[in-house]
Amino acid sequence: MPLPPGQNARALRSPLIDPDLGYIAGQWVGADSGKTVAVINPATGEHLADVPNMGKDETLRAVSAGEQSLKAPTTIDQRRGWLLKIAQRLKDNKEELGRIITLEHGKPWKEAQGEVEYAAGFFQYCGEHIDALKSHPLKERPRNHDWTVHYRPAGVVALITPWNFPIAMLAKKLSAALAADCASIAKPASKTPLTMIAFFTLLAKLDLPAGKVNLLIGSPQTIGDVLCQHPSVRLISFTGSTEVGRLLLHNTADYVKRLTLELGGNAPFIVFDDADLDAAADHLMANKFRGSGQTCVCANRVYVHRLVVDAFAQKLAQRVKKLKVGNGLEPDTDIGPLIDENAFKKVKRHVDDAIAKGALRVVGEAPTSQGEWGNFFPPTVLRNVTKEMACVNEETFGPLVPLLEFETEAQAIERGNDTEYGLAAYVFTKDTARAQRVIRGLRFGHVGHNTGTGPAPEAPFGGMKQSGFGREGGREGLFEFVEPQTVPAL
Ligand code: NAP
Repeated sequence: MPLPPGQNARALRSPLIDPDLGYIAGQWVGADSGKTVAVINPATGEHLADVPNMGKDETLRAVSAGEQSLKAPTTIDQRRGWLLKIAQRLKDNKEELGRIITLEHGKPWKEAQGEVEYAAGFFQYCGEHIDALKSHPLKERPRNHDWTVHYRPAGVVALITPWNFPIAMLAKKLSAALAADCASIAKPASKTPLTMIAFFTLLAKLDLPAGKVNLLIGSPQTIGDVLCQHPSVRLISFTGSTEVGRLLLHNTADYVKRLTLELGGNAPFIVFDDADLDAAADHLMANKFRGSGQTCVCANRVYVHRLVVDAFAQKLAQRVKKLKVGNGLEPDTDIGPLIDENAFKKVKRHVDDAIAKGALRVVGEAPTSQGEWGNFFPPTVLRNVTKEMACVNEETFGPLVPLLEFETEAQAIERGNDTEYGLAAYVFTKDTARAQRVIRGLRFGHVGHNTGTGPAPEAPFGGMKQSGFGREGGREGLFEFVEPQTVPAL
């Protein structure tokens, strides 16, 4: 039964959400204006909670709290302790955090718990590798001077995250920011703030200094403008659309502010004629339908060698037909809803556009309107897709697999690269030499060979071209939030 509007997050009956507010300077706080934003379950349309709609004054207070906390530097051992404790608390609470993710995002509960474990991996990695941030000596030749390189915290940093991974995207950023001894201001997506509130409820129980971690929920433009313009905010780490990433570039240009931009993708998934087609189909299923196709690393264009396209389409169709679409809290659900009506309409537009331009529907019912389907888009496979179609040029962010064809290795590389994006790509072939040539030719930050799996906490991940710059995860990610400072050895 849908809940009546106006009930707060206690309606979720979650022991992890108390209260449903933002967090500034070590205190739970609402919006000064008293205004709230509703959070809706995309599977049922039920009203889950009202969260504060914060703006300029709350953002200024969060920046000031961050500045204050930076006045008392912490030790590497303290930070290691916090990072490892956070990793453990995430693992201990993965079922409840996962349930909250499912309620506000829609992804299946098991998958949501996987996201929490993945998030824990970033805190674990930073905790185990934080010694890399210790100062180190440097010998200058030929003058034989001795120097020391220190890794100073970048300062107050803003962490802006999207709705498609309500906890993992924040974990990637906060783990490295905390390792660097920065003061963080997290701004989650308005559609999925409850997971973040639950996570901050866990953080609030640690002995972190007041102002070290802050949570703002509310007006993206007002909060974003203060974060872009305030001189004390030295770095903005953003994951989201290329459109908003570009806006942040413009808005920070006058302030010469560091940015890490993890933006949109348009991943090619390339299957050569010598590939293990069953394995390729299995990997494509896992890659494409995770989060109902709403991930930045989802295959968006599937290029299959002309000689095997019939066989591959058949294998894929058999698998897609078995998918159970439904509420993520039901145990047998394979894929949940899309995040909202606009997301549904975008996928429908891509399918309709492709069919109108000559694509053939291999699997998938044709929804006439969003109303009769709710936010559940039927998993769809299309053949005879060509580069003139919208689904090839735009990120679909939904359960649509468009099959395109190629004949030569050169075509595979050229067509794979034929996009402004450069985040993730996948190559399936048994020929290692060919794989090496193709991977070298592809301009993507992450390339899987005979695997559709995405990035890991141990690996640097990020985009080329208009998918952004900067890296998260691994040693490179650990160094994103520090400023190297070189001084004569004392
Ligand atoms: P989005 O609309 O760009 O929003 C991302 C975040 O930016 C949200 O917190 C949003 O707040 C905030 N925001 C919006 N306008 C802003 C402004 N003017 N100033 C400051 N912040 C602003 O993206 P999304 O729809 O949430 O996420 C989907 C996109 O993220 C896709 O393109 C996907 O490919 C990309 N993504 C990339 C990666 C990666 O690692 N490269 C990972 C995951 C997702 P509100 O929610 O309150 O509007």
